[in-house]
Amino acid sequence: MARVFNFNPGPSTLPVDVLKIAQEELLDYKGTGMSIMETSHRAPEFDAVNEQAIALTREIMGLDDSYHVLFVGGGASSQFAIIPMNFLSDGKAGAYIDTGSWSAKAIKEADIIGKAHVAASSKDSEYKFIPKQDDIDLPGDAAYLHITTNNTIKGTQFHYIPETGGIPLIADMSSDICSRVIDYSRFSLIYAGAQKNLGPSGVTMVIIKEDLLQKCNDGLPTMFDYRTHAGKKSLYNTPPSFNIYIVKLVLEWIKQQGGLSVVEKINKEKQETVYAMIDKYPDYFKGTTEKDSRSWMNITLRLPSEDLEKKFIAEGKEAGLVGLKGHRSVGGIRVSLYNAMPLEGAQKVAEFMEDFKNKN
Ligand SMILES: *Cc1c(COP(=O)(O)O)cnc(C)c1O
Repeated sequence: MARVFNFNPGPSTLPVDVLKIAQEELLDYKGTGMSIMETSHRAPEFDAVNEQAIALTREIMGLDDSYHVLFVGGGASSQFAIIPMNFLSDGKAGAYIDTGSWSAKAIKEADIIGKAHVAASSKDSEYKFIPKQDDIDLPGDAAYLHITTNNTIKGTQFHYIPETGGIPLIADMSSDICSRVIDYSRFSLIYAGAQKNLGPSGVTMVIIKEDLLQKCNDGLPTMFDYRTHAGKKSLYNTPPSFNIYIVKLVLEWIKQQGGLSVVEKINKEKQETVYAMIDKYPDYFKGTTEKDSRSWMNITLRLPSEDLEKKFIAEGKEAGLVGLKGHRSVGGIRVSLYNAMPLEGAQKVAEFMEDFKNKN
């Protein structure tokens, strides 16, 4: 078996232990004579998977059962529209902190459904930083405040949770969910496409607090009303069942390691290892973000020339370090260090960086 270190930004690397269990169970899931993806979503075997995935999510994130855990299709991008459909109404705007391409897309959808109020933005400085609490202009009658906790393309991350004075806080955590210990109970709604930190693409985790669920607008198409999915534990229609099964395995893997405090410790060391190279050779590896806004999950940088960047990506691949290319909208290099990337992968990248700099 020749597994590379896969730094793809999403879909991205999964824990080998999880892939092995999925492989072992693929042809005959627990003596049923079929795989879980061939099993009815109404069967007890799938129900157990779904219930365990819900329970593990609450346990790992420290949430009580006032939080519904949903697994839906449509990607995080569908949530950009479904959130305003459910919570915006005449005269009530949704407030957004604009910290990059994904936030901008969420704002665009809110403006189609109702009205988006940009409460803070770092757009004018190429999204190099996360606005501070004092910079947030949050109207008292906003329906919610929406943030993107980790900016996958721009390489920044919130290192604080905004105070909202009772206004529901909503977060797109697609690229940093379950990567560190934070007080998840400060949020009323959390959503994440699974393909970065939780599993395969095709399933989106939505965690919604009961008191926010009560505020959903009436008259929505059934599939776009959160109450439909919350009332049926995501089984109103056929859910992405195999993907939910993989998410369950990933959550078990997180728990087996010791939960988020252990995951955070490893993630901290991983990002320190790579940023150390940027700080050691700042004229060669130019970080694209301000230090206090640096992402632990996606490290973005430029090299002295585009030719060198191309060479870096190609030679990295030859060395078994795959997926180091920056997003097509920004160029440069991006090192994605999601949960499933072992410390050894970060160390290999750091060694490769130093070596590359010395030779070029
Ligand atoms: C990847 C990503 C998305 C888009 O997710 P899809 O599942 O492809 O719709 C949205 N927000 C953030 C922060 C992301 O990283």
